[in-house]
Amino acid sequence: MLLIGSHVSFKSSDQLYGSVKEAVSYGANTFMFYTGAPQNTKRCKIDYDLTLKARNLLYENNIELKNIVVHAPYIINLANNENKEKYEFAINFLKEELNRVSMLGITLLVLHPGSYVNLDENLGIQNIINALNEIIKPNQEIKICLETMAGKGTELCYKIDHLKRIFDGLKFPDKVFVCLDTCHLNDAGYDLNDFDSYLKKFDDKIGLNKIACIHVNDSKNVIGSHKDRHENIGYGTIGFDNLLKIIYDERFKDIPKILETPYVSDCESSKNKTYPPYKFEIEMIKDKKINDNLIEEIKKFYN
Ligand code: FE
Ligand code: FE
Ligand code: ZN
Repeated sequence: MLLIGSHVSFKSSDQLYGSVKEAVSYGANTFMFYTGAPQNTKRCKIDYDLTLKARNLLYENNIELKNIVVHAPYIINLANNENKEKYEFAINFLKEELNRVSMLGITLLVLHPGSYVNLDENLGIQNIINALNEIIKPNQEIKICLETMAGKGTELCYKIDHLKRIFDGLKFPDKVFVCLDTCHLNDAGYDLNDFDSYLKKFDDKIGLNKIACIHVNDSKNVIGSHKDRHENIGYGTIGFDNLLKIIYDERFKDIPKILETPYVSDCESSKNKTYPPYKFEIEMIKDKKINDNLIEEIKKFYN
């Protein structure tokens, strides 16, 4: 069965229970969320009763806990230690995040490896390695998935080689995996018209068995632009057919495919509202046919 879902919200009021409800409303059988706002580190306590309620709802909808993904906040930067306090804070935050994730019963945590800022590539990579070696416990069940990045600014891990160097320095490499992001791969310079040749390189250096999650996004920019701006499925430079091929690749049938495409904005509405595209994108993917009227249909549905 196709494992497809999207980013959903996680609100302090109903926590995982609300996330499951949202995912189900999109027709998804997997999903990803941040345990709070993606741009800050304020987090609420995981509520036991809400978690239990969520588990029942998951069960009723045939969604497996092992296919749910948490994304760490993107302000966490393990690559830069110029400010020791900030670096220590990031490490401690991730230790706590692992606790929250395990209380929810989730086993996949996606992380942006980091940006070296004023340092250099080598120091940045060493900082990531040191941080991960401090964070990871040998008996943890959670897989930390390093995301492939677009190479915006001083971002690391837009190259397979960066990931390889991190794996080589890890004390417990069996706890670390990779999350491919199609928009980021395109923006990093990998041609998704020829995904197989990317996978071949990845397999040679890291191993396809290390791919534990895929973020499926189209891109607003041309290949190699290092921009990182996601586009709705079939409406960007990667294109529907290329994305469909990745989504339906037999080798990834057991790993969650997650949409992080942009909300559709309704300029006509006076309140300038935005609507989630996921229900409609998931339908297109299941139908294997592009909806040329996607944006209009989304606006009509939510109005
Ligand atoms: Fe990400
Ligand atoms: Fe992503
Ligand atoms: Zn991105």
